[in-house]
Amino acid sequence: MSPAFRSLNLVFLGPPGSGKGTQARILSERYRIPHIATGDMLREETRRRTEFGSSVKGYMDKGELVPTSVLNGIVLRRFDSDDCSRGFLLDGYPRNVEQAGLLDDLLAELGRTIERVVWFKTDDELVMKRLTGRRTHPNSGRVYNLEFNPPREDGLDDATGESLEQRSDDSEDVVRQRLQVYNDQTVPLIELYKMRGLLVEVNGEDSVENVTEAAMKAVGSPVGL
Ligand code: AMP
Repeated sequence: MSPAFRSLNLVFLGPPGSGKGTQARILSERYRIPHIATGDMLREETRRRTEFGSSVKGYMDKGELVPTSVLNGIVLRRFDSDDCSRGFLLDGYPRNVEQAGLLDDLLAELGRTIERVVWFKTDDELVMKRLTGRRTHPNSGRVYNLEFNPPREDGLDDATGESLEQRSDDSEDVVRQRLQVYNDQTVPLIELYKMRGLLVEVNGEDSVENVTEAAMKAVGSPVGL
């Protein structure tokens, strides 16, 4: 990685359930850049029952994309924050060709570029198991899976004993829809970034530790970060 980088701007691509959110949390700490997850931002709005939250909930519950025109305001505002000056890690954005174009425009305005796009390649069937079995502890963000990483006590967080929740869009039919949307709208971005020489691929089916190692190797160690 060139020492000339003044900031590290990363995009994580992959189907829902590829582990990109988990990896984004780990790498954003290691590289000390903010983790910007549009899904988390939208869920926070729906949890707080803001007007904006109510306007996007229907799309999310059905596993459809929130229209870019509706979503873009909160994304642009997030980029304006001071903590993005050293870079950022985008998780769940861009999700289609339109958003990729908007991101390019925004970065051009800021005089910045994307350094790497990390693609967490994961098979649809594994995604299905990971998501329908996923349970989370809302306050900490800790994630469990009924099959791969069950809590010690059924339905309860190991550390606090508080109840775990299932995301409303992790039911089987909604996961199918989310996968369909990913394959139709997001997969074309893989080719787009490949052609631009930005894409690196990691195996999203490997263990969390191995995927972290592979992703960090692919991104490199930017000097000064
Ligand atoms: P995620 O947590 O990334 O799986 O996102 C959950 C849901 O939020 C998606 O199924 C969409 O409804 C919505 N969403 C998140 N990011 C975007 C985006 N970049 N564009 C449109 N909708 C999004």
